[in-house]
Amino acid sequence: MPIPRPQLHRRNPAPQVASPAPPPAPGCLFCEKAGGRLLQNHESFRIIAADDHELPGVARVVWNHHVQEISDLEETDRSLLMQAIYEAELQIRTLMRPHKVNVASLGNQVPHLHLHLIPRWRTDPWWPQSAWSERPALLWRGISATGFAEETADPTEEPALFAVGDWKQLKDMASPVRQKVFVQEQGVPQEEEWDEQDRICRHAVVRAGDHPVATGRLLPDGRIGRMAVLPEFRRRGLGRVILRSLIDEAAARGIEGVFLHAQTHALGFYEKEGFYAEGEEFFECEIPHRKMLRSG
Ligand SMILES: [Zn+2]
Repeated sequence: MPIPRPQLHRRNPAPQVASPAPPPAPGCLFCEKAGGRLLQNHESFRIIAADDHELPGVARVVWNHHVQEISDLEETDRSLLMQAIYEAELQIRTLMRPHKVNVASLGNQVPHLHLHLIPRWRTDPWWPQSAWSERPALLWRGISATGFAEETADPTEEPALFAVGDWKQLKDMASPVRQKVFVQEQGVPQEEEWDEQDRICRHAVVRAGDHPVATGRLLPDGRIGRMAVLPEFRRRGLGRVILRSLIDEAAARGIEGVFLHAQTHALGFYEKEGFYAEGEEFFECEIPHRKMLRSG
């Protein structure tokens, strides 16, 4: 018996008659306000930047009239909406270079047709879960978990612990270390040290007792950067703990091709962990660097 096919398109559609615009709904957020910074304003829809979201680059496509579902729209309006989503998604891919774009129509709390466009990265706080799920708890581990003998950052203090987490979880620990090493010690300008990437990076921190002493970050493209150890805690293998935990984190998140820009004096440190230099020396923040890749 032939399986009946769903009638998605009428062969002889009724003549298009503009249906009357539904009235604004009292108390509806999207009827009363733009709902965020306006990126594009069309007669039928608007695109707004969701600057309140923890992830950068999140946008919402909002239908201007108060309808609840996509299937409440006329056929031409459905096509117009899909075209708007397509164009907004393309913009996000071009500008933000995410690993995935989530397009979601929720509206459980504001039942006025709108779609969220959410750029996602393998290093974002929720990957691979949805961006509205609970973030995984931060887990502090003894540094023997990285394959090193248990070391004590200071013999008079508690053993060093390390964790890998997101910016919200670790910025209060990572920031003072970076401030001291890059801004104060190396003279990197504040505006170059802090960037939007932190929000979509994985961060590693080593602490001795309650004091953060080392940090580093993994960017979505596989680059490891911002590796810093406080002066009084150097030559104890803590930088290696940071590096190794970020390499493991990249592997766990399916990121291939880990690389970094090493300050030239530190090439030997990275070579011991399987990195090799490629290309000419170059300058970042007036400090000589080489690009290093990792085999295997
Ligand atoms: Zn509304």
